[in-house]
Amino acid sequence: MSREKRACQNCKSEFWIESEDFKFYEKIKVPPPTWCPECRMVRRMMFRNEKLLFKKKSAFSGEEIFSMFPADSYPNVYESKIWYSDAWDPTSYGKEVDFSRPFLTQLIELIKEVPHPSRSVSESTLINSDYCNNANDLKNCYLIFNAARVENSAYGDIVYDSKDCMDGLSLRQAELVYDNFWVQKSSRIFFSSNVEDSHDIWFSKNLRGCSNCFGCVNLRNKQYYIFNEPYSREEYKKKLEEFAVGSSEAVEKLKEKIKTFSLRFPRKFMEGRNSVNSRGDYIYNSKNVLNSYNIQGGEDLRYCQFLVDSPNKNCYDQTLFGEGNAFTYECYECGLGTNNIKFCAACWSDVHDLQYCRYCFSSFNLFACIGLRNKSYCILNKQYTKEEYEKLVPKIIEHMNQMPYIDKKGRVYKYGEFFPPELSPFSYNETIAQEYFPLSKDEALAKGYSWKDPEPRNYQVTITNDQIPNHIKDAP
Ligand SMILES: [Zn+2]
Repeated sequence: MSREKRACQNCKSEFWIESEDFKFYEKIKVPPPTWCPECRMVRRMMFRNEKLLFKKKSAFSGEEIFSMFPADSYPNVYESKIWYSDAWDPTSYGKEVDFSRPFLTQLIELIKEVPHPSRSVSESTLINSDYCNNANDLKNCYLIFNAARVENSAYGDIVYDSKDCMDGLSLRQAELVYDNFWVQKSSRIFFSSNVEDSHDIWFSKNLRGCSNCFGCVNLRNKQYYIFNEPYSREEYKKKLEEFAVGSSEAVEKLKEKIKTFSLRFPRKFMEGRNSVNSRGDYIYNSKNVLNSYNIQGGEDLRYCQFLVDSPNKNCYDQTLFGEGNAFTYECYECGLGTNNIKFCAACWSDVHDLQYCRYCFSSFNLFACIGLRNKSYCILNKQYTKEEYEKLVPKIIEHMNQMPYIDKKGRVYKYGEFFPPELSPFSYNETIAQEYFPLSKDEALAKGYSWKDPEPRNYQVTITNDQIPNHIKDAP
């Protein structure tokens, strides 16, 4: 089929469906999308609260616990430890399909009934890391989000295989780093961005294979450089002392200085390296990755974001997180071995042939289920035989097309559409959609997205002398 122009059901603007896209949709047996790629991406992002934690009552113990879901949002939450245990049975919520009402309405009712985990974490792999979310394998971490295999770190987002990091965004194999954006395979990096295979770097941008550089831009394999000028080792050390980076006032001034200095240099048209036939930004070690952002080791991907753990192959419209995804479409927060999953959220650990599922693990052949583990052939959390399941699923798909769900803005959801934004338990401004596609309150409401005015916060903290650890008090 040749490429075709369609009008987006959401923003009404025109978008192209490429002939390659049609082939993919045909292969995984879904209709072509009715929303444009950007609207589809934002719709998935509206379901992802990455960094906010709220106090919420556990529906299991009645105790007030920390949760990624706001106190007044719909999911009943259980403490993650309880939720992942056998203390409750998600199939006890199982429902028959009612062919007199839209199927998505019934799925939404089930989603609102079945308990959700308070945080999206692999609980058994966290040690002393209670105030973190969207993470696994953490030790001694505090306010670390979207992370795996991290130790002794605080205040970070998108942090992988790192230790002793503070205030960082997009760190991988980083050690002893502070206040950076995008650091890979590096140590002792401060106030810098886009630094790879380097150590002892201050106030720099886009360095690779460098060490002992201060205020430098676009350098490769250099040592002892200050503002892109070479120095001897001794001169460099002397100069570094003069910069007096120990004072916050000096740091702020230097940040301003490097900002102005870096404007003199050209920037690459896209960030990334070692990729073939790929378009987007921050694409590494990939092949045939198109219209995608922040991808590591991807192959044949399109319209994907934040697949930072490889490998991922043959995926369309997947937001987060990867590590063994194949043939996934319109999913978010799925990974660790997935195959042929569609319209799913937060499903991981060896799952295949799932559609419209949330928080299902180590399962296969599920349709519209929530919170199932080690299950197969279930629909709306109700167990069927293989034969019954195979007969019922095509019937439901036909019903979804004949009696689609229609949302508050009149947008139509036949089979092949991701969850409607109004199902998100979060307001637009609580999700990563607001980080990457910021809207004002009025703009969000006009698009039919929900909004919550944040509560005023009191940042005043009093620390008494005896609360300060001795090693900090004694520091010079
Ligand atoms: Zn659109």
